[in-house]
Amino acid sequence: MAAAASEKKTETEVAAKAKANELGQIPVIMYHRIIKNPPPGDDRTPEQFRAELERLAKEDYVPITAAEYVTGKIGIPAGKHPVVLTFDDSSPSQLTLDGMGNPKPDTAVGILMDVAKKHPGFRPVATFYVIRDLFGMAKPEEQTQVLEWLKDHGFDIGNHTRDHLNLLGKPEKEVEEQIGAGQKLVTSLIKFSPVTLALPYGNQPHDKKWAMKGSGAGASYDFRGVFLAGYTPAPSPYTKDFDPVGIPRIRSKEKVGDCVKFCSTAWLDWLNANATDRFTSDGNASTVAFPKFKAPFVAAPYATRALPY
Ligand SMILES: [Zn+2]
Repeated sequence: MAAAASEKKTETEVAAKAKANELGQIPVIMYHRIIKNPPPGDDRTPEQFRAELERLAKEDYVPITAAEYVTGKIGIPAGKHPVVLTFDDSSPSQLTLDGMGNPKPDTAVGILMDVAKKHPGFRPVATFYVIRDLFGMAKPEEQTQVLEWLKDHGFDIGNHTRDHLNLLGKPEKEVEEQIGAGQKLVTSLIKFSPVTLALPYGNQPHDKKWAMKGSGAGASYDFRGVFLAGYTPAPSPYTKDFDPVGIPRIRSKEKVGDCVKFCSTAWLDWLNANATDRFTSDGNASTVAFPKFKAPFVAAPYATRALPY
C-alpha cells in the first residue's frame, strides 16, 4: 500500500515536471503527392515536405501511426507531442523502391527516413491510405513488395476505398462494397488488415456509421477510426471529445488563402502559442496524465488509467 502510494507520487511528479497533458490536441497531417513543381492544390515539393518534418522534429513532435492514435497506444518520451503523418492515394511519389528494395531518396518515405536519421527519437512512421492504384505498381507481385516493405518497416496501411469515389449520396450497398474492396486490396496481398479508413474527399456517406462497420465485395470491416479531410487538430483519444466516426485532419500547407488559418503551418503556430491545449506526454504509456482541472473530460474507457496532478 505504502509502496504503491509512493510510486503514484513519483508518477505524478514526473507528469507535472513534463507538463503532461494527455487530454490535449494532436495534429493529424494529410499529405498527397510529394513532387517537384506541383500544380496548385494539396501536393508538396520534397523541399517543403522536408522542411515541415524538420520543424516537427525541432518542436518536439514524435510521429505515431493512425492505428496507434485511435487505439490510444501513444508511447513517446516525456515532454514530447504526438503527430500523425498520413498520406492519401498511394502515389509513387510517396514510396518507390529501387532494385535493392530501398526507398528512393526523394520519395516521402525516403525523406522521412533521412530526417529521422538526423533527429534521433523522431520515429519514421506514418499511415498510408491506399487505393486501387497501389504506388503505381501494376503487377500483384510488385504491389506485394511495396506493401510488405511498409509493414516490415513499422509503417501503417489504411483503407481509402478501392476506386476513390465520392461516397456522399451513394446507397449503403455501394458504400460498403467500396470500403470492403479497399480492405481486400490489402488483405489479398499481405497479412495485414487496415484498422482505420480515410474517406475520399473527406466526404461522409448518408449514414456516417456505414463507413465504420460493414461488409461488401467479400470482405468485412470494423474500423477503430474514420478520418476526414479538414480542418482542425484532432482530440486526444483519451477525451470525451474523441469521435471515431469523424476524425479531423489538417492539410499540409503554408499560410495562404484559407490556409491562413486552417492548414499545417497555421495550426503548428497555434499549437505552439497554445501549449496547454496540445497533447504532451508524461513518458508513461500506461497512464493518462493531465492537470487535475481537466479531469471532467477523461473518456470513460480510460478512467482507470487517469493520472491527474
Ligand atoms: Zn484521396
